Parts: sequence; structure tokens; C-alpha cells
Amino acid sequence: MKKIGMLLLVIIGMISCKNEIRNTTETSSVIIDSTQVRKHLYTLASDEMQGRRSGTVGIERAAQYIETEFKRLGLTTYDTLSSYRQTFTFKNRRTQEEITSSNIIGVLEGKSKKEEVVIISAHYDHLGIRAKEGVLDSIYNGANDDASGVTGILALAEHFKKVGNERTLVFAAFTAEEMGLIGSTHFGKGIEASKFVAGINLEMIGKTPSFGPNTAWLTGFERSDFGKIIQKNLVGTGYQLFPDPYKKFNLFFRSDNASLARLGVPSHTFSTTPIDVDEDYHQASDEAETLNISVIAQTIQAVAVGTQSIIAGEDTPTRVVLEERKK
Ligand SMILES: [Zn+2]
Repeated sequence: MKKIGMLLLVIIGMISCKNEIRNTTETSSVIIDSTQVRKHLYTLASDEMQGRRSGTVGIERAAQYIETEFKRLGLTTYDTLSSYRQTFTFKNRRTQEEITSSNIIGVLEGKSKKEEVVIISAHYDHLGIRAKEGVLDSIYNGANDDASGVTGILALAEHFKKVGNERTLVFAAFTAEEMGLIGSTHFGKGIEASKFVAGINLEMIGKTPSFGPNTAWLTGFERSDFGKIIQKNLVGTGYQLFPDPYKKFNLFFRSDNASLARLGVPSHTFSTTPIDVDEDYHQASDEAETLNISVIAQTIQAVAVGTQSIIAGEDTPTRVVLEERKK
């Protein structure tokens, strides 16, 4: 009796460690490795990366880490690029300095629908170092914002490399989001938007939302039926997706999804953060230790399960139509 009890405990422990979510509509279940999640997050948010401000040696270290991971996973390069880098120069609107930086982009070509693209993105830049008098920690590590999202794209690349994809997947770590969605806007200029059937952007997925555990929210929920498709696919998994509850913050237009949504792509941002009460948002205290690895792993897994039918070419979300700007 005692032995069986011990064995049961071990088995239960093993299952719960893997952050498993079962999709009752299918027999297969997805596993996101939380050890890898922790490694990506702690590396990208380490002091060595110096807050990953675009144009600095710190963000260059982050770029190299993402490239190394893309290479390890066997991703191919995007479009006519000869490496994972899409490098360009721009002027920082606030400081007027010229900055050269790169989006880091890797591709998993689709099997049966390779002309149809789903982009999975997060920004890898953050605010850098801002020395303030009397404040000891001047490195803005940006663990939640948005090392957590980049962790998500790396984990999803690893997952889909394993399970396969019918539509082509483009994994993009964008630069200079914090300077005004610069990297994603640059990327958007070069694309044929009609080929992009969906955009999955991850922003700040490391804290438990106000809706409670095993939930996330999606920006621009009502702007296409992307969110409804995700909700349908998550039925029975124990994980729930809600519309963005912070309408007044206009979050749909404040992250990289907007750069593609402006072109009509149903491109939305997943987040878990209670942003209205988050004391670490855009502070030096946004450190890896403040985040919950399980929340990140479970959210990445929910994104994998939730977007599966889109990536398999079975569901195609409606296009985003933006209202005309008022004069
Ligand atoms: Zn962000």
C-alpha cells in the first residue's frame, strides 16, 4: 500500500511538472518544457543583456542568443534574407540618434500550404539602462516586457518543429518596439499582406491575470474572429481566453501586432499581465524573479493548442478592418 502510494505521488509529480493541458477534442496533448522556458527567460532578462535597448551591445547579445536558438532548431531564413537578420537604420524620434538594429526572423516552411503565412512574434528590445540618482538598480531587464514573449516564440518554434505545420510559420523577434513599433513597421513594409493569414503576438505573459490562473486576454478581440477560433480550440483544456479588459489603454495599437493589423492581417496580442496594477511595468524591477514560470509555460501551451487549427490550415480568421481615421 505504501509503495503504491509513493509511486502514485511520483507519477502525479511528473505529470504536474510538465504543465500538461489536455485537449479533450483530440487525443494528443502538447508539452511545453518549462526547463527550457526558464533558461530562455533568465538568459534574455539577465543583467548581461543590459536592458536590450536597440542599438546597444546588450541587445546584440540577445540577438545572438535568439539566432543560436533558431539555428539549433533548424529554422530557415526569411524571404530573400541570407541570415536570420533583417537589419536597417532608423532615427529615434525622441533623441534624434541614428540607430542600426535587426529584426531576428526564422521560418518553418509549411507542408501543404506554404504560401499561407502565420507570423508568431514578440519584441526582444527593452528600455536599456537608465541611471537615476539614489537608485541602485539601473538596468531595465524587461523580463515580462518582453523576454517572456520571446521565450514564447522560441518554445513555439521548438514545438512546431516537432509536430509539423501545414501553413508556413514565420518567427519574428522584433527590435525597437519600445521606440514606437519600429521593427515591426519596417517588417510590414516589405510584406505581401494578403499572404499573412494570422498574426500571433506575445506580450508580457509571465504574471497571473486578474481573471485568475490558466487564463490570458487578447487585444482587439472584436476586430476579427481570431479570438473566437482560439476559444473554440481551448474548450476542455482548462485554459480560457478573454477579450482585453483594459479598453482605455488602447493596447491593440500599442504592440507589434498593430503594424500588421494596419495592413488587414488578423494580428492580435496575447497577454496575461494585470497591467493596471502591475508595479513592475516599465520599471527596473521587471526581473525574471517576479514572474511565474508555470504561467509562461501554460500560456505558451495554450497558444499552441489554441492556434493549432489556424496553423494546420483548417481555420482562417476574418481580416481586420480598421475604422477610417477621423480628421
Ligand atoms: Zn512590450
